[in-house]
Amino acid sequence: LFAGPCDFVKGVVALGGLPPADRPEVCFAGRSNVGKSSLINALTGRKGLARASNTPGRTQELNFFDLGGRLWMVDLPGYGFAEAPKAKVAAWQALLKDYLAGRPTLRRAFVLVDGRHGLKPPDLEIMALLDGAAVAYQVVLTKADKPRGGAIVATAEGVRAGLAKRPAAHPHIHLTSSETGHGLPELRAEIAALAG
Ligand code: GDP
Repeated sequence: LFAGPCDFVKGVVALGGLPPADRPEVCFAGRSNVGKSSLINALTGRKGLARASNTPGRTQELNFFDLGGRLWMVDLPGYGFAEAPKAKVAAWQALLKDYLAGRPTLRRAFVLVDGRHGLKPPDLEIMALLDGAAVAYQVVLTKADKPRGGAIVATAEGVRAGLAKRPAAHPHIHLTSSETGHGLPELRAEIAALAG
């Protein structure tokens, strides 16, 4: 699946703009700066695919990528912008909620969590949103190359404990590094399996 073409198709700002739900779909969510663009670029091997810098105003859209005509990969807006205007935050939260609740082909959300920090309140908020919309999700720990001396294992344990309390979370946690490529083949395989 990842050997074939992957193209950015559109940024969606309102439900009416969604591409047809004509194939399996996965989405990526994460706090700003978690490494979401880097991960999408690294997974697809396309450096400039997901915009490498996220600023409020540029990222309040659902970005759809077409993987070989077989899967939609959706880059959700980064959350946790304390500096973003409240009305804008409310608008994309509403769009996100409507999208998550109304997309029958959405197979799984990947919730990216910073491997240096573990779960933070905004991560729990997005999980609550996913739980509310009955979307299955799985945590991907990013920047796994950073923590030293087994700290990533402790972080993963903490995340696992947090996930155990939630209804729709997938227990398996992916450890990834976009810098070293660690965990990327496994994540690609997981996504390919969801494409059927
Ligand atoms: P986004 O805001 O979630 O899209 O985050 P970016 O992909 O723009 O990454 C935010 C910062 O983290 C950038 O400075 C990246 O170079 C850095 N970064 C992203 N992924 C990794 C990684 O796997 N390892 C390390 N060490 N740094 C990373």
